Amino acid sequence: MKTQIKEQVDKLLCSAKMKRTVPRRTILEVLLNAKRPKSADEIITAMSKRSANKVTVYRVLESMVGAGLVHRVFIHKRAEHFELADRCTEAQCHPHFTCVSCGAINCMAEVSMPIAKGLEKGFIIHRQQVHLEGLCPRCV
Ligand SMILES: [Zn+2]
Ligand SMILES: [Zn+2]
Repeated sequence: MKTQIKEQVDKLLCSAKMKRTVPRRTILEVLLNAKRPKSADEIITAMSKRSANKVTVYRVLESMVGAGLVHRVFIHKRAEHFELADRCTEAQCHPHFTCVSCGAINCMAEVSMPIAKGLEKGFIIHRQQVHLEGLCPRCV
């Protein structure tokens, strides 16, 4: 299992033509193991013993967002959240569902939405990101 993740990490970096540096590999490993978007602070916590400073983590995340490996998903509790881009298509990200009762955020990777229509002239959509709010099964 562990080596499988390492292989996946190397494959991702290779596909993005990025060098395999330790911070990149560690952060990708955390995101691969995550089931939902994570903030920089959560990523640092998950990196545990390996020394990580926030500036480095942000810089690495930024470069991976630029390379299209990672998506900036939303701001939750004033913190940007990131996740791997591998479950999104070119034109849209999978929707996210926030429970208004317990605050849990869920990736709705199986849900796809029609792209927004009826935009005024001159607007061009690059990506569609949908955020849903409501109650999760535990809180219904
Ligand atoms: Zn809930
Ligand atoms: Zn997600």
